[in-house]
Amino acid sequence: MSEMSKLDILGWLRESDPVRLQELYERADAVRKTHVGDAVHLRGLIEISSYCVRQCMYCGLRRGNRSLTRYRMTREEIFDCVHMAEKLGYGTVVMQAGEDDLLTAEWIAEIVRAIKRETRLAVTLSLGERRQDELQLWREAGADRYLLRFETSDKELFRLIHPGRNGDRPDRLALLRELKRLGYEAGGGVMVGIPGQSFQSLAQDVLTFCEMDLDMIGIGPYIAHAATPLGSGALCPPIDPAEQVPSNEEMVYKMIALTRIVRQDANIPSTTALATINKADGRKQGLRVGANVVMPNLTQTKYRRLYEIYPDKACIEESAVSCSQCLGGQIHSLGRFVGRGPGGRGVNEAPVSVSPDVDVQLVQLQE
Ligand code: SAM
Ligand code: SF4
Repeated sequence: MSEMSKLDILGWLRESDPVRLQELYERADAVRKTHVGDAVHLRGLIEISSYCVRQCMYCGLRRGNRSLTRYRMTREEIFDCVHMAEKLGYGTVVMQAGEDDLLTAEWIAEIVRAIKRETRLAVTLSLGERRQDELQLWREAGADRYLLRFETSDKELFRLIHPGRNGDRPDRLALLRELKRLGYEAGGGVMVGIPGQSFQSLAQDVLTFCEMDLDMIGIGPYIAHAATPLGSGALCPPIDPAEQVPSNEEMVYKMIALTRIVRQDANIPSTTALATINKADGRKQGLRVGANVVMPNLTQTKYRRLYEIYPDKACIEESAVSCSQCLGGQIHSLGRFVGRGPGGRGVNEAPVSVSPDVDVQLVQLQE
């Protein structure tokens, strides 16, 4: 791990000189190249249910959003996506959902077992704050990784924007420690520019990534959703305006770069939220400043628009195949290559081909 003090991190987060920022990005890109190489790993995202019992103040899937039509995939629909992941040559599938009690622990475990039995895919779960015995069951069923962002390390802000389920106080950092103890590769992360989020707390987020020794770190912009208390302005966490972190691309790039510098071998995605606020170039720019993972969407097009965490999400009209082709092209245009296999933490994969478009052609052949 490379050392950076909180003061250094704060200085970079407030930096606005484009020449200095370019230096930061180049440094992060060099660390990325040395420690995880030029491979970009594709994790196929399957949004298996939009039902959620929680009331997170920022998220469009919150239970209180009655305007959203909800869906839950059948086992067959999930397997259609899994088979598409294989066909497209992905190494991992990520099953993500709201906190949906009807996704019972045994039902999920059976699906995980079947994926592990029938394919060579790594399985990542992102199903919210579930009980320890459920997390253990899924790990025993063969799940490799679990994503659970802690959203912000500011405890007071987290308490305001992320109410507990039965009046309890959720502790995502404790859950992440438990996931690591169970042998998962554990992924945390934060949103950037949450109303009430200070530069100090964002600097602390970067230090928390190190303290927790996270295997995967997801960083995306907070995007206001009008059907949520935070997005509509009904909830307005108090903060000195000079301390408020803006929710813009540059802040996200700085955070990705700083995170790469201090957590050299972590897997860091260039997120869909980043691609949403800059549809033309956000995903590529994230890969230029330290990211080494992207998560193409495998969810059936009829469900994508219903998984509305925030408005105007990128890639909701594209099919799984066109997402794959588009991303393959973007990756090659950066002089990088699509990683093969599961791409766990610390894997520095040699290129299997140097010819541009080879991966895109491969996908076309497999169709
Ligand atoms: N329910 C699971 C959970 O909460 O971990 C997984 C699904 S949840 C929609 C995945 C992530 O979406 C959250 O961890 C949060 O960081 C992100 N998210 C939710 N609302 C958002 C918003 N308005 N803007 C940007 N990201 C958001
Ligand atoms: Fe539900 Fe996750 Fe959205 Fe919270 S962030 S409302 S737990 S889907």
